[in-house]
Amino acid sequence: DINVQIEDVTKVFQNDEGNDIVAVEDLDIDIRRGEFLVFVGPSGCGKTTSLRMVAGLETPTEGKIRIEDEDVTGYDPRERGIAMVFQNYALYPHMTVAENMSFPLRIRNYPSDEIDDRVDEAAELLEIDDLLDRKPSQLSGGQQQRVALGRAIVREPSVFLMDEPLSNLDAKLRVQMRTELNEIHQRVGKTTIYVTHDQAEAMTLGDRVAVLNDGTLQQIGPPQYLYDNPVNRFVAGFIGEPPMNFLPVSIRETNDGYDAVGEFFEFELPRDVVRDIDEWDGSLDHVTLGVRPEDLSNLSVLDHDEYTENSTLDASVKVVEPMGSDKFLTLTSPTDDTTEFSARVSPESTVAPGESISLAANLEKIHLFDER
Ligand code: ADP
Ligand code: MG
Repeated sequence: DINVQIEDVTKVFQNDEGNDIVAVEDLDIDIRRGEFLVFVGPSGCGKTTSLRMVAGLETPTEGKIRIEDEDVTGYDPRERGIAMVFQNYALYPHMTVAENMSFPLRIRNYPSDEIDDRVDEAAELLEIDDLLDRKPSQLSGGQQQRVALGRAIVREPSVFLMDEPLSNLDAKLRVQMRTELNEIHQRVGKTTIYVTHDQAEAMTLGDRVAVLNDGTLQQIGPPQYLYDNPVNRFVAGFIGEPPMNFLPVSIRETNDGYDAVGEFFEFELPRDVVRDIDEWDGSLDHVTLGVRPEDLSNLSVLDHDEYTENSTLDASVKVVEPMGSDKFLTLTSPTDDTTEFSARVSPESTVAPGESISLAANLEKIHLFDER
């Protein structure tokens, strides 16, 4: 059951010099009813423009927007059955919670008994029914966010649109609000399109995540799928924190498969890691091997027998950061201290800056990219 269709949409702006700026190019996404879809990508990649085209605040240069199977491309924002939730909640300080929530219905002249019903229903859903007489200043940040959502919910939109609603909050509150939004979405169950530059927010909130770069969709899928199967180096580097390590290698064919040969290691590649190698554009001498920090383990705390020389590498320890559940190591190649990479190892690892260690890579989890 598809709720919103973004059909081959392109948006071109003109800058002050009259040059074309392609903000969004050939974006094509079907958003399912009840889905929480997150657009994520660096600043300027076209997230806000994409959301504003769904809202009706920008007109696509090419392509169509459909909501509830209806072509709404030329429609006014008010005629689209959408509600937008903004960054700072924008609650009216002099109004009570109930007055804030009923405001969008009052200005549209809804009958007062219907207004009361909708406000009560939304307040119950959001578990703020005991706060209806309070003023915003008497509410916590989380409660204010619920009121802002309540004000959108009373209009009974078919789609919620949110553009970086948490970006003004400090780090701790942002993480708290993320959990709140997750819980509220599970309760309300309405289609939501959410924009953020923060990959952690995208990962924790999205049923699916759409990664944009430079106006084009790089990959769309469930967050864990993107984490495990990034289609290119951009997605691999953008999703995941701390980021994936990228090490230059060349690929050599051997009697029974392929080896990845780097400056200070040589890995024997499992078959599924190299399955598409015939279709690569780039040279096999200029390949990037990607390995996440948690897929490099300290050999001294592992059962050595499980690991062969074909998956190990030596490194010099530069920085050790204990993180409680693990230790984060900044490492360099033993031969060249400008080649840095990182590992997340067991908290029991006793390593100190300046030492040399041996690491084992989980070769089942490495990635190869035909670009440097
Ligand atoms: P994001 O939200 O991902 O940071 P935007 O969608 O705001 O990105 O912008 C995408 C690109 O389009 C940027 O290069 C931006 O400068 C440009 N852009 C956005 N709005 C306009 C506009 N009204 N006029 C000209 N260029 C614009
Ligand atoms: Mg933006």
